[in-house]
Amino acid sequence: MPNTVAALRETAAGERRVAITPEMAKKLKGKGLRVLLERGAGTAAGFPDAAYADAEFADAAGVLAQADLLACVLPPDDAVFAQLREGALVVGQLRPYGATARLAALAARKLTAFALELLPRTTRAQAMDVLSSQAAVSGYRAMLIAAEACPKFFPMLTTAAGTIRPSKVLVIGAGVAGLQAIATARRLGAQTEGYDVRPETREQVESLGAKFLDLGVSAAGSGGYARELSAEERAAQQQALAERLAGFDVVVSTAAVPGRPAPKILTAAMVAGMKPGALIVDLAAESGGNCELTRPGERVEHGGVTILGPLNLPAGAPLHASEMYARNVVNFVELLLKDGALAPDFDDELVAKSCLVRAGETLFSG
Ligand code: NAD
Repeated sequence: MPNTVAALRETAAGERRVAITPEMAKKLKGKGLRVLLERGAGTAAGFPDAAYADAEFADAAGVLAQADLLACVLPPDDAVFAQLREGALVVGQLRPYGATARLAALAARKLTAFALELLPRTTRAQAMDVLSSQAAVSGYRAMLIAAEACPKFFPMLTTAAGTIRPSKVLVIGAGVAGLQAIATARRLGAQTEGYDVRPETREQVESLGAKFLDLGVSAAGSGGYARELSAEERAAQQQALAERLAGFDVVVSTAAVPGRPAPKILTAAMVAGMKPGALIVDLAAESGGNCELTRPGERVEHGGVTILGPLNLPAGAPLHASEMYARNVVNFVELLLKDGALAPDFDDELVAKSCLVRAGETLFSG
């Protein structure tokens, strides 16, 4: 009897992605696994049930009762976990930080749960790296939202009605999302600069044809991530940035420190010093925002400056976001297989480090 890999229709507000695409269902079947989906699971992502030649369909209760592994994009309601069979596996972006009730629900059912956002950022984990694949979608979409909301054109235009100068765009935080935002701004023809506290990002920003904005603050942390700035570093960063901000038409901010609230980089006073008509798109809105005026999911006007705090940007490009996400999931599922059956090897650091709960025992401590 093959193991059953399953997915439900996602239920988080505005979510349109699906954890298993038709192509990945085929791949899983090729590995000897059975794929079982809730009816309509992929419809909002652009994959109607008929597109899944290699999957079976049931209602949510039927899926949960048969799943050996439940793959999800975002965590379902905690009550869903109680409907899984004891000992089943759960794989997805399980948003574990501060999620005490979710961890308790997983443990109560004696499940084994893997949060893909905890995978170490190593070369071997790259093919499973949901943070990267989804951040790339976020960065791309954030810049399109900025271009759409900006009262100016991004590119230089020479027309009979005069010459339009290109917009000046700053991207704060040059991780995966930031670099994709920079690349998108460049493709749209804006004069683009990028800023980050990790010194190695200078070369990455410059390789995209953008300029690196050097504010003289360096804060490389462990595992390739940034660390939190000290109070003095933060003050120095803010002072240097405040002096430069007035030169930009658009700021897209993506700065993050894993497991921590987003660093507050743009103060109300700094925003007040920006040009009228300037625009901030704060990608960190979900974790509190890089700008202290950001309101998650809302548009804020402050002294002629607009601040947007869009949420769940990958859900807005659900087809490609799902294709990338599902590929990450399937690569991780393959890692859990032994002789065609699900048998996680906890000696493997990718398995061990992403595991939140193992057969009911909570391993994640936040
Ligand atoms: P992230 O989402 O955690 O943070 C976004 C960016 O914000 C980072 O570049 C960070 O340095 C920056 N930042 C944090 N605090 C800041 C501040 N106060 N001011 C300005 N910028 C600030 O980052 P991410 O995109 O997930 O990437 C994190 C790291 O992982 C990077 O080093 C990236 O190259 C690396 N990575 C490795 C792999 C791999 O090899 N498998 C894959 C993807 C990413």
